[in-house]
Amino acid sequence: MADSRYDAVVIGAGVIGCAVTLELTRRGLRVLDVDKAPAAGAGSTINSCAIVRFSYSTIPGIQIAYEGMRYWTDWANYVGADDELGLIEYHQVGQLLIRTGEQDHTERVAELWTELDIPFESWTPEELKARLPILDSGLYGPPTRPDDEHFWDDAHGQIAGAYYSAEAGYVSDPQLSCHNLQRGAEAAGAEFWFGAEVTSIDQADGRVAGITLADGRSVTAPIVVNVAGPHSYLINQMAGVYDTMNIKTKALRHEVAHVPAPPGFDFMANGVVAADDDNGVYFRPEVGNNVLVGSSDPECDPREWVDPDDYNTNLTQAQWEAQVLRANRRIPELGVPHDRKGVVDLYDVSDDWIPIYDRTDLDGFYVAIGTSGNQYKNAGVAGHMMAELITAVEAGHDHDAEPVVATGVYTGCELDIGFFSRNRQINPDSSMSVHG
Ligand SMILES: Cc1cc2nc3c(=O)[nH]c(=O)nc-3n(C[C@H](O)[C@H](O)[C@H](O)COP(=O)(O)OP(=O)(O)OC[C@H]3O[C@@H](n4cnc5c(N)ncnc54)[C@H](O)[C@@H]3O)c2cc1C
Repeated sequence: MADSRYDAVVIGAGVIGCAVTLELTRRGLRVLDVDKAPAAGAGSTINSCAIVRFSYSTIPGIQIAYEGMRYWTDWANYVGADDELGLIEYHQVGQLLIRTGEQDHTERVAELWTELDIPFESWTPEELKARLPILDSGLYGPPTRPDDEHFWDDAHGQIAGAYYSAEAGYVSDPQLSCHNLQRGAEAAGAEFWFGAEVTSIDQADGRVAGITLADGRSVTAPIVVNVAGPHSYLINQMAGVYDTMNIKTKALRHEVAHVPAPPGFDFMANGVVAADDDNGVYFRPEVGNNVLVGSSDPECDPREWVDPDDYNTNLTQAQWEAQVLRANRRIPELGVPHDRKGVVDLYDVSDDWIPIYDRTDLDGFYVAIGTSGNQYKNAGVAGHMMAELITAVEAGHDHDAEPVVATGVYTGCELDIGFFSRNRQINPDSSMSVHG
């Protein structure tokens, strides 16, 4: 059995956990990443839509996502190691934000992009039609469900156009990105234990001392990082810090439909990522000329908070129809296949849909949680922020009194880690949805 003494233990080998492991290892720590699943990325990351976009409601949210995108364009260099499974590909197809003409999230994003010099184009409905003829430019919202008496009404006007951000895109194999990070971390000296379920967070002398696993093994480490995704609150309860945090996390069930692209249209080559708040959906191309369709959490869609170890993992007819039929308004030739295909997984949602990247009241115990369905894209930058935070705090810095400000590796932007504090007030600027 491997030596059970490490400088740091990371709980969770999803995309964020693997990035934290890589970053801490590259800073010279002997790191063990433990995951109860049989492989990296087998938790909620495996079913992520893995869309990379910068359309957040806050300045730090946008800056971090824009910095985070560079990790994907520089992936081989960042991973810095061979992977026998190959490296992921970042499909930089661009993102459309459909404009309803209301002063909504989309217009706020455009204002913030302008302020921050994030490049984007504004397309008229005619330009949208010329570039993507399969898209309809009708105005249908606000979003409803098929059982609403007005659901089948014709468009009541035309959308105001769309904003287009060319550097956005997606990763089609999110689990492979975790394996890539694992290989990068291992090349730097990290270890991974799979099938290793944490059942206790051990403490001694008022600080964290390590972990104990379900099979009885224990590991000693002065630093433990909770990156357990939708199970994050359970790990916080084990550590006794759940009640000490102002912002809490819980698991939200989410369905994503997989629908074949309209016949005759190569959606892989010519499709884009799109956020369509008029219809309460987002979509993107998927391998095999498919379209992934998710809900952007409009008010009409019920929010299903669940026990992460006991929830319905099957697509439901009602939600499938709601998402696919709403997507059909924007892509009228999409159709509604007889067979339901898609995935069901969990978001680890914080009270304001902004993640918590922070220390806790238990010295040595850190959290990278509450990723709220929107932090896949930020794995690299989140790993960097967590490693900068941990390095500073372990060197004696009082992060609660004077939050650590890191520097973006690629864009040089200031990354104010205090923005992600466990003790913040609920951020009123947040969209309170997957938009972040
Ligand atoms: C359906 C869906 C669509 C999404 N779409 C997007 C998107 O388009 N763009 C975007 O940026 N983000 C998206 N997200 C969010 C993004 O995927 C997540 O924020 C990200 O994958 C979280 O990674 P993680 O490493 O924190 O968690 P996870 O991948 O969930 O990893 C947590 C790991 O912890 C392990 N674990 C839990 N409990 C224990 C324990 N007791 N002991 C040991 N191990 C434990 C689990 O096995 C798991 O592997 C989406 C999420 C979902 C579910």
